[in-house]
Amino acid sequence: MGRGKTSSSTSDRTASGWCGALLLTLSLGGAPTVRADSAPAVAEPEPAAAAAPTHANDSADRARIDGPETPALPPPRPWEPVKLFGREIVPGKKIRASLRAGESFTGGSINIPALVVRGTIPGPTLCLTAGIHGDEVSGIEVIRQTFESLQAEDLAGMVIGVPVVNLHGFRRGSRYLPDRRDLNRFFPGRPNGSSASRTAHAVFSGVIRRCDALVDLHSGSFYRTNLPQIRADLTHQQPLALAWSFGVGVVLHSKGMPGTLRRAATEAGIPAITYEAGEAMRLKMHEIERGVAGLRNVMVWLGMLTALDTTRDEQNVFYKSRWVRVNDGGIFLTERALGDLVQVDDHLGTVTDPISNERTNVIAPLSGRILGMAAPQVVIPGFAVFHIGVASKPLVEAPAPGAPPFTPPTPDEAGATTEQPDAAEEHPQ
Ligand SMILES: [Zn+2]
Repeated sequence: MGRGKTSSSTSDRTASGWCGALLLTLSLGGAPTVRADSAPAVAEPEPAAAAAPTHANDSADRARIDGPETPALPPPRPWEPVKLFGREIVPGKKIRASLRAGESFTGGSINIPALVVRGTIPGPTLCLTAGIHGDEVSGIEVIRQTFESLQAEDLAGMVIGVPVVNLHGFRRGSRYLPDRRDLNRFFPGRPNGSSASRTAHAVFSGVIRRCDALVDLHSGSFYRTNLPQIRADLTHQQPLALAWSFGVGVVLHSKGMPGTLRRAATEAGIPAITYEAGEAMRLKMHEIERGVAGLRNVMVWLGMLTALDTTRDEQNVFYKSRWVRVNDGGIFLTERALGDLVQVDDHLGTVTDPISNERTNVIAPLSGRILGMAAPQVVIPGFAVFHIGVASKPLVEAPAPGAPPFTPPTPDEAGATTEQPDAAEEHPQ
């Protein structure tokens, strides 16, 4: 897979970075179905950043695109302390905090750990969440490494991380909450709802509503593994641009199931994407490294970090996908690998009855690329074993420096459909 180098220099970083990135997207971006004036509003910025004169942002961005001399920017505005998690966080600080999210069985409070870096320069707020499914540990490590490398003096804006959202599940090595509910079906949650709904509400109201953008990190479920990929609602301009900025190389269009954090955030006007990589309860270095590099790419694109070189893979955009399910139970074996390109009627694997030795073949019902797959295991009829993405257009090359961030076909042009039930399935049973 080829890699594209994108150079960016953001020495005049101010709060205009995020606005500038959006302006660039909206004025030059691809062909979204959402008009610029109907795109969801970005979450309310910090008060100090809100006063940014838009004409200055506009001219600065045009200068960056077209190459002429950058006009003088106004002096930096005050960048105030912010109150978060019951504390005042001053610029230049990196802290650990906690979010109170209900009570445990024994009456003690549940405090979800959080990390905050408040930069020394005004800028947007980026939120990072992981561990909504308590057995998906890869994203937890991605956030840990990201915060370890972040220095407040190098940062414009603020990064808030909640690395273990489902603390109960994490402690038990379980995907679920103690009541067997899937937390990622209850966002944005309700203050007086079920236990899951209350936890979701505490996270959404206490953290997510403070964000200008969100990256939620996940892994495959039920002994399945995912090719590192970004999932986003590509019918909205801002998630689409965020997905491009991550630069992992595989982008899958998905609105997300109702109640997922990503969908709830997008519907609340907060651009959100999901990084899916690997499998539950496993840590793989290359998946973690891709995640850490992707988050850095996002921060550079938002104007939060300066980088002379950022590496983004060429973007493979999948507007359609389908899970292939087995019709018989037994021992599932396969020699296929993540990322394989398959043609319709290709042999993907076998399912063998362990007693009778009866064997059935798993056949590809469509051509595409394997984005997710089950590990060899015992399966029951109906178990989803391969997730095949359909690339509707040739590969989209990573844009040159200063080029519009993403020029994929619109979902309508690509023939995307919401009638295909598996297309939006985040974690099939
Ligand atoms: Zn998950």
